[in-house]
Amino acid sequence: MALIIGLTGGIGSGKSTVAKLFIALGIDVVDADEVARQVVQPGQAALLEIEQHFGADIMDNGTLNRSKLRQIIFQSETKKHWLNALLHPLIREAMLAQIRLAKSAYVILEAPLLFENNLTGYTQYNVVVDVQEKVQIERAMQRDSNSIEQIKAIIDAQITRDERLLKADYIIDNNCADRLSLQQQVKILHAQFISLLK
Ligand code: ADP
Repeated sequence: MALIIGLTGGIGSGKSTVAKLFIALGIDVVDADEVARQVVQPGQAALLEIEQHFGADIMDNGTLNRSKLRQIIFQSETKKHWLNALLHPLIREAMLAQIRLAKSAYVILEAPLLFENNLTGYTQYNVVVDVQEKVQIERAMQRDSNSIEQIKAIIDAQITRDERLLKADYIIDNNCADRLSLQQQVKILHAQFISLLK
């Protein structure tokens, strides 16, 4: 299988922004969040199972009410466990299928919970997009118009910045507001990954 590079970072660190820069260089990116949404689209078997398990209230005009589901599993470990047991294998299967279809020199697997969900079993090297927590909170709040409490709760559910940095093979520093600096770092990494293939 091709060279697979994990891309992760806390909420608001700049993963999607970095992913777009790799895409601009012609690299295929598989987005774990997007795959997670795809497996519960109308018509998917998993959606029917979720409806049967949680009741019709979890649906909104034939589609999954994701924020309601998030609230439910946030309050119950048992329900969260049930849902993960259903979805994780499906997400992994779909992710691998998309990785197999990739045509670029190497493939990026973008996943907010790359380390937490042990997706590193699929990747050879892992890139962490890093920002200070203050910057992270500011950017995440600005993007999602969430409260500081909501953002902090999400940060607390992820591994800490230090743990993430310790697990990184490569680190992209995204503290600087200068997009050119980010682009430069991505270009250097891209050249590095291409050289790994030789
Ligand atoms: P993630 O995918 O890690 O949650 P995003 O890539 O969506 O993070 O970035 C979070 C927000 O911060 C977005 O609105 C994005 O446009 C903005 N952002 C990303 N990098 C920078 C930067 N270097 N300077 C200023 N804003 C940035």
